[in-house]
Amino acid sequence: MNSLMNDDMVKIIRNGLSASQHPKHILVIGAGLSGLVTASLLKNAGHRVTILEASGRAGGRVCTLRSPFSDDLYFNAGPMRIPNNHSLTLEYIKKFKLPTNVFIVEVLRESIFFSSPAHFYEITGGMDLLPHAFLPQLKTNILYHQKMMKMSQGENRVTIHCQHQQTAEFTSFTADLAIVTIPFSTLRFVKVEPYHSFSYYKRRAIRELNYISATKIGIEFKSRFWEKASQRGGKSITDLPIRFSYYPSRNIGANGHAVILASYTWADEALIWDSLSEGERIQYTLLNLSEIYGDIVWSEFVSGTYFSWSQYPYSAGGFTAFEPGQELELYPYIPVPEGRIHFAGEHASLTHAWMQGAIESGIRVAYEVNRLP
Ligand SMILES: Cc1cc2nc3c(=O)[nH]c(=O)nc-3n(C[C@H](O)[C@H](O)[C@H](O)COP(=O)(O)OP(=O)(O)OC[C@H]3O[C@@H](n4cnc5c(N)ncnc54)[C@H](O)[C@@H]3O)c2cc1C
Repeated sequence: MNSLMNDDMVKIIRNGLSASQHPKHILVIGAGLSGLVTASLLKNAGHRVTILEASGRAGGRVCTLRSPFSDDLYFNAGPMRIPNNHSLTLEYIKKFKLPTNVFIVEVLRESIFFSSPAHFYEITGGMDLLPHAFLPQLKTNILYHQKMMKMSQGENRVTIHCQHQQTAEFTSFTADLAIVTIPFSTLRFVKVEPYHSFSYYKRRAIRELNYISATKIGIEFKSRFWEKASQRGGKSITDLPIRFSYYPSRNIGANGHAVILASYTWADEALIWDSLSEGERIQYTLLNLSEIYGDIVWSEFVSGTYFSWSQYPYSAGGFTAFEPGQELELYPYIPVPEGRIHFAGEHASLTHAWMQGAIESGIRVAYEVNRLP
């Protein structure tokens, strides 16, 4: 299916696709990273692109929260780190000249014995700078608040039926082709007409592909008291419900406020946080942290926020995670086009739960569509 090698993809990021001999009108569903990548490449190759996005912002799961935090503080509710071998993600960061710094992954207990080399980066200023870097080129092509409810395709055209998320108004968009980049967890709710225009295996993959929950809780403190306890960046792991905590890799030793990722949980461990009210989530997080750092947690607390990806209607889960057998039984059918409808997204790659997978699928589908007669 994917005849492009990694080096070919890097070249496409640098130089673009070849100019299209048969320009088309293409609807891209979803303004997450995969949708932005594919729309950007296809627009540059001479196609007309319209991006239909259900939420009010671009970036999808690449989401940085700046509220309720003070000044320039922020919290990456989605991606926070980039492995140094994710060449496609790093190539886009280079292309857009985005600043990066090392993301420290060291665990305090381990550092007594050895110090692990840095293998990750983060975008300085927030991960959402990456999707935002596509906006100067694409902002006039994105229609926000348009949630796809139904897809209909015929011999020559495809129509996407949307409901506006603020006005509840229905609008239809017709084009030559559509590229669907939304997670299969949300595609499950979209009607396909005619039903049999999607193969049996594609329908099974949409229905059965497994997603796991992910929840992050960010807390702002007046000072970096954890650094006095020798936690200088890196993460702590405990059996407390908060499980994984990550400390800022930047400005170590600085005075003033800082935000920590106080809790990062996956799967069932993430779901228990959904049972709590907003206030309780913050309170239990502080209670858990006080078991590690003592009462200083209470006096230094400023504010906190929470993001449950299973409660987010436009992802309905954190990311794809194959159940036993799914890679063999479902994956071969996921990236395959169905008539005039093509597919991208992290789920349509084998690099699940990483921006790299979303970008790779976006390049692959743009290349595929650009070669159509
Ligand atoms: C908690 C968490 C931590 C992560 N950590 C990392 C990390 O550290 N490093 C890393 O590289 N990656 C990480 N990832 C993975 C990365 O965020 C994803 O792989 C990538 O952003 C997915 O991009 P996408 O385009 O496939 O999907 P999305 O970003 O989900 O884009 C899909 C878009 O479609 C829209 N949409 C959904 N339904 C509809 C509809 N019916 N109609 C119209 N639009 C719709 C959505 O609003 C969204 O904008 C993390 C993800 C999560 C959730």
